[in-house]
Amino acid sequence: MLRGMNKRFDTGPGHPDGFPLRDVLIVGGGFAGLSAALYTARGLKSGVVISGGPSRNAPSPHAGGVFSRDRRPPGEILAAARDDLRPYDFPVIEADVTALTGQNGDFTATLSTGETVRARKVILATGVRDVLPDTPAGLREQWGRGVHHCPYCYGWELRGGQVAVHLPGLSGVGGVQSVLYHQKLTRDVLVCADGAADLTPEQRGLLLERGVTLIEEPLVRVDGREGGGVTLTFQSGRTLDRDVLYTHGRRELRADLAEALGCEVTASGITVNAQQMTTVPGVYACGDVTKGNQIAFAVAGGAMAAMQAAYAIFYDTLPDGARA
Ligand SMILES: Cc1cc2nc3c(=O)[nH]c(=O)nc-3n(C[C@H](O)[C@H](O)[C@H](O)COP(=O)(O)OP(=O)(O)OC[C@H]3O[C@@H](n4cnc5c(N)ncnc54)[C@H](O)[C@@H]3O)c2cc1C
Repeated sequence: MLRGMNKRFDTGPGHPDGFPLRDVLIVGGGFAGLSAALYTARGLKSGVVISGGPSRNAPSPHAGGVFSRDRRPPGEILAAARDDLRPYDFPVIEADVTALTGQNGDFTATLSTGETVRARKVILATGVRDVLPDTPAGLREQWGRGVHHCPYCYGWELRGGQVAVHLPGLSGVGGVQSVLYHQKLTRDVLVCADGAADLTPEQRGLLLERGVTLIEEPLVRVDGREGGGVTLTFQSGRTLDRDVLYTHGRRELRADLAEALGCEVTASGITVNAQQMTTVPGVYACGDVTKGNQIAFAVAGGAMAAMQAAYAIFYDTLPDGARA
């Protein structure tokens, strides 16, 4: 049997394998999933979180902009969220969900342990993966430390400092906007275009006038500096120190389970409505795998998904005379 399974709230008919039918199965124990768990428990619904692997921002030493936990380590925030579940006896199982089948009222998840979990409703909080390019060397190792993707997550700390932005293929008005956006932190913005930028003379002039340094020579290496920041090495061997390098990885959705259930998934995420309902009845989704890029949004989405799933269970069990 699954260790730590909730006995108090076990409800519903038994399964031939001996597994009870829980109210809500939550896949993913990051910010969205743990928030959904807390709201599921407080809604007096039984459930379980199945979570395999670290949260997306595990490499980062601090998480900025988290209500009442600003700049605390993400692992510490998630551990506190798990602690919050203790009084509710809400299990969090370390495993991957490898398959998910069924329909509204009775879904079955197969875990990497070979075990099975059944639930009336499913909340998918599986997040995204950041796929970083092979070059420059050292970029992946510095991800979340000297290399960041978001000035909201890590930027305020560097205000007035020396910032670098990695913008391969820099072009047009959109490119100019991306550069100038980073000047909310500091005037001293260095752009690594990693090749010739496709800018008009006017656009180049504008960046120069605003104090931006544009380097088109390929960036070949990123090293962490003791005490923070990065050393950037360009093809010619020239090196420059910066407080941070902003870059963007490819955002790979962890949406296989949603697709297997038939949920609509677009390039930006699993499609959900304002109640976090997917296009498949009984299936909810929240966090980065839907949209958004911030812990606050993931937590809010998890809470909404859990309230809606609990309400749907209530509604499903209403007598005919009480339904609209
Ligand atoms: C380097 C970095 C720094 C960041 N810093 C900040 C910051 O300072 N402030 C901020 O607000 N945001 C920050 N973010 C964004 C933040 O990490 C995300 O918005 C947040 O993690 C989204 O929460 P989530 O629950 O949707 O996904 P996650 O926290 O990534 O959790 C998803 C979980 O689901 C698990 N999972 C996936 N598939 C399965 C499966 N099949 N079975 C079981 N488990 C599964 C994953 O392993 C993971 O544990 C940062 C992101 C990065 C990359």
